[in-house]
Amino acid sequence: MEMLEHAPEVEQVRRLVTEVPGPRSRELDARRASSVASGVGVGLPAYVARAGGGILVDVDGNHLIDFGSGIAVTSVGNAAPAVVERVQAQVAELTHTCFMVTPYEGYVAVCEALAELTPGDHDKRSALFNSGAEAVENAVKIARTFTGRQAVVALDHAYHGRTNLTMALTAKNMPYKHGFGPFAGEVYRAPMAYPLRWPGGGTKTREQIAEEAFDAFVSMLHTQVGESNTAAVIVEPIQGEGGFVVPPHGWLQSLSHYCSEHGILLIADEIQTGFCRTGDWFACEHEDVVPDLITTAKGMAGGLPLAAVTGRAEVMDSVHTGGLGGTYGGNPLACAAALGAIETMRTEDLNARARQIEKLFRSRLDRLRDKHPEIAEVRGRGAMMAVELTAGPDDLTPEPVATAAINKRCHSQGLVTLTAGTFGNVLRFLPPLVSPDHLLEEGLDIVEDAFAHVLG
Ligand SMILES: *Cc1c(COP(=O)(O)O)cnc(C)c1O
Repeated sequence: MEMLEHAPEVEQVRRLVTEVPGPRSRELDARRASSVASGVGVGLPAYVARAGGGILVDVDGNHLIDFGSGIAVTSVGNAAPAVVERVQAQVAELTHTCFMVTPYEGYVAVCEALAELTPGDHDKRSALFNSGAEAVENAVKIARTFTGRQAVVALDHAYHGRTNLTMALTAKNMPYKHGFGPFAGEVYRAPMAYPLRWPGGGTKTREQIAEEAFDAFVSMLHTQVGESNTAAVIVEPIQGEGGFVVPPHGWLQSLSHYCSEHGILLIADEIQTGFCRTGDWFACEHEDVVPDLITTAKGMAGGLPLAAVTGRAEVMDSVHTGGLGGTYGGNPLACAAALGAIETMRTEDLNARARQIEKLFRSRLDRLRDKHPEIAEVRGRGAMMAVELTAGPDDLTPEPVATAAINKRCHSQGLVTLTAGTFGNVLRFLPPLVSPDHLLEEGLDIVEDAFAHVLG
């Protein structure tokens, strides 16, 4: 069978030929309004026809700069060549069997790659799923089976998904949980080490905050849940939807030690932070933490739906045969895509690239902060950077209205940005790791102009 030709490469320039969204996008959006459920919100209704590198091309021919990667998914770029090649070959050979019915090699190869790339050199096993939320649900199932305990502890500002159990784990009510209860039981919430918003945070060192937040965590778990009832603590090493909250160094390691002392499993939810996003394969590495279980998805498969739980062999294998699975989990196309994406991450050294991107963003955003006292903090790691907007230097009142206006202004100028945060006052940047510098600089020029436009 003849291979399809690659689509022509997407020119790496921003170019606006209509307003954004343009007339063809607006036509499609009218169709959306009468066919798609309005509960599925849309950030920027510019309908995308093709994409590559750091550019999205919409149906009106506008070339938009991508600072979102479809929420940290297309780290290797959209329609990345190694992903396209492997998926095209795979789709012509075998599309589905259900791994639980009759297996195939791609699934095994992805689990081997996960064992090699995730933190720790212990014996590991993995199981594959379709979405991040599904991976998190399964991590909890596995932790409960292994420990024989039920309680799960999550953190303030956490995001773990939208299914029933993961809604319970997710902290933010609107829009994720509002009206959707009752939620799964035996989920408890502990304070997050959020330096900017820790009581008296401005006058304390990050070490002090790490200590105080750890003490508050232990106190909550001990008094309200009980160590011997707790199956797992689930943590995002850097919080994603919660606003790219970077806990102070040492806090995650304290949690990890505490968990292992008490037979509690530490689940690192690396669905957003994993696969080179923060400049390491996994964000836990930066903290020298080896989690018992790790959930992955987003960046792993270059845009195809794939998720995984990886963990200590004895933990993973505590589940009875047949206890884990699903019809589509680890679909052959998604596995082929993951193998292509991982190959790209290795050959292009995207960890090093993420660290370069951090430098570029940090210097530009620090300068922006000097101009605008509304930027309370520039934070993040690797190609996962954000600014949090507040009323002023000594007033941490969140500024969601200005944040939304800046976000909207960026959109109108052909830059795809995203907001985040419990208070909706964080502007976050997640460019594809393969974006060329000139697009990153131009995108940051647009951000700078948008701040000036909205805040003066
Ligand atoms: C996106 C995300 C999820 C949920 O993944 P879905 O594929 O949307 O279900 C879970 N945890 C974290 C940290 C995420 O960023």
